[in-house]
Amino acid sequence: SEREPIEEARPKAPVKPMTATEVKVNISIPEAAERAAATGADGVGLLRMEHMIMGTNKTPKRYIDDHGAKAYRDEIVDGIRTVAEEFYPRPVRVRTLDAPTDEFRQLEGGNDEPSEHNPMLGYRGIRRSLNEPEIFEHELAAIKHLYELGYDNVEIMFPLVNDAEDVRRARDRLESVGIDTTKREWGVMIETPASVMTIEEMAAEGIDFASFGTNDLTQYTLAVDRNNERVSDRFDELHPGVLKLIGRTIEICREHDVDTSICGQAGSKPEMVEFLVEEGISSISANIDAVRDVQHEVKRTEQRLLLDSVR
Ligand code: PEP
Ligand code: MG
Repeated sequence: SEREPIEEARPKAPVKPMTATEVKVNISIPEAAERAAATGADGVGLLRMEHMIMGTNKTPKRYIDDHGAKAYRDEIVDGIRTVAEEFYPRPVRVRTLDAPTDEFRQLEGGNDEPSEHNPMLGYRGIRRSLNEPEIFEHELAAIKHLYELGYDNVEIMFPLVNDAEDVRRARDRLESVGIDTTKREWGVMIETPASVMTIEEMAAEGIDFASFGTNDLTQYTLAVDRNNERVSDRFDELHPGVLKLIGRTIEICREHDVDTSICGQAGSKPEMVEFLVEEGISSISANIDAVRDVQHEVKRTEQRLLLDSVR
């Protein structure tokens, strides 16, 4: 069926430097779509699903109990559609729900949520989704519905995967709602050292892309709680240990024709951008306010590499 625009076409994005490495933008709330698109970004590298769901102030289970599964799915469809429409035909990478239990506990229905010692090491991301297919299914059904509406620019990304088994199980969920994983773009976030060490096996499962979630990758590599101020001086995305994991992943993904990207906060930092372009990353996704600077940093680095290569 035909894709029906929500609103009239908007003015074209401003002139931006042409670069081989794509520069995309991160979006946390769908309402930011217009401002994000106006940066001239090549797409959305991370569209978080959290706000679409938790913005209702209810846990998914409570929301579905109160309003029904269709209303729940519609919340997600509306959120993604706002962004997919604004960016069409530029790609929009939607990440399935990834909220730790301590955040769920603050919502209506949160009393039913487990209390965990270490929510960041606990029941979140793909682990929870695979464990609760009856909830997860609605997120994937929402995306399938968007494909039916003609939003073929939507891509699907899974958070906190550790290995090929996680990938296989997530892919099975996609297939089970009727999403053809050989036709649609889908992939994983690289957020744990285990995911780096198993990237070859994940590539063999047919992922189209791997995106560095450096907020978590740094936390889990350095054993530094990203929310603990006492150790925040040790939270360093440019730590050589983190950079080696990233470099290794890019190299292997290039061999296997898997796109690489970054959607953690570090993608907005010039030193990281320089490193990633040197390593040959496919795209960088930055915060709305950082997109312009990142575009120029990418351009500078690409030009320097070109000059170095002919010297
Ligand atoms: C990350 O871990 O870098 C990331 C983008 O995901 P989140 O910040 O939502 O954990
Ligand atoms: Mg993360």
